[in-house]
Amino acid sequence: MAVDATQPYDDQNVFAKILRGEIPCRKVYEDEWSLAFHDINPQSPTHILVIPKGAYVSWDDFSAKASDGEITGFVRAVGFVAREAGLVAPGYRLLANTGTNSHQEVPHLHVHVFAGRQLGPLLA
Ligand code: AMP
Repeated sequence: MAVDATQPYDDQNVFAKILRGEIPCRKVYEDEWSLAFHDINPQSPTHILVIPKGAYVSWDDFSAKASDGEITGFVRAVGFVAREAGLVAPGYRLLANTGTNSHQEVPHLHVHVFAGRQLGPLLA
């Protein structure tokens, strides 16, 4: 079911459980601010999710409430993950679904990193 991006943070969401180590993930990268892991249902040959460690429902929540350190750390982590995976030259796409119309399903901010094939038109 799609997420209402205005709802309060639900600490029982699947990414909160991954952050607490209650369920496993295929970790790609971790630092003070962020965790990156492979999507369980990849939509491209490379499909990584990068999430902030803080409790933010969506991009809206994060951009409004996170500290400058969290925002800087998270943005740098997304770039680092893509760079380290060798995605810059072939190219990659970032996506952060926010709320009902975007089809956001997990109510913890995540940036999708898609790569490894020709991705086609933006809203296809
Ligand atoms: P979104 O529609 O933007 O909320 O995307 C949620 C993404 O989370 C989907 O691509 C799912 O495949 C992915 N996902 C859900 N549960 C897990 C999990 N346990 N580990 C890794 N990825 C997951």
